[in-house]
Amino acid sequence: MAHEHDHEHDHEHDHDHDHDHEVDEEAVARHLEGERAYMRRQALAQIRQYPDVALRMRAREITEFDEFLVQLVERMFELMHDAQGVGLAATQLGVLQRVFVFAPDEESAPRAIVNPRLTLDERDKLVEEEGCLSLREVRVPVERATRVVVEGQDPNGDDVRLELDGLAARVVQHETDHLDGVLIIDRTDAESRKQAIGELRPQPSLV
Ligand SMILES: [Zn+2]
Repeated sequence: MAHEHDHEHDHEHDHDHDHDHEVDEEAVARHLEGERAYMRRQALAQIRQYPDVALRMRAREITEFDEFLVQLVERMFELMHDAQGVGLAATQLGVLQRVFVFAPDEESAPRAIVNPRLTLDERDKLVEEEGCLSLREVRVPVERATRVVVEGQDPNGDDVRLELDGLAARVVQHETDHLDGVLIIDRTDAESRKQAIGELRPQPSLV
């Protein structure tokens, strides 16, 4: 799942400026921003983009908790970080295995959930805009449960159970959808879907 761009931007201006060094700091900030944009492009180039067929496939249950899984999860953590995302599913790398990574909040370390099972609190739902690392700049309104219990395993095969709300609850629903081949354009209203599919159509190059 893609991060809010405005939100990202705000944080870069949180720290205090020392006036004497303001010019240098701004040059450094510009340099770092360029670096981050470059890292993001590099990461996105490794993430399957709509209409890649892998995004429409159902991933299989994971039964082997081996070195391959550990390395896959490490790579997913790195790509999610570099792409400035808050969640990433294995299907987005073309790996049809039921595992996703997500960032629960700004303070906590990212987590990996293997073979996720969700229990949604159906009483409280909220429509909010979502983006996706596989859908370029598209953002569409999606209704999700605001509270969810996610159960599954960690990459070592140990049981995990998390009670989540807010953004984290939204992210795990988004990522579990990926493992079933479901995208946010399937979950939005007809008008938003039509507009999104228009935006995702390959642009004819001007020659
Ligand atoms: Zn996504």
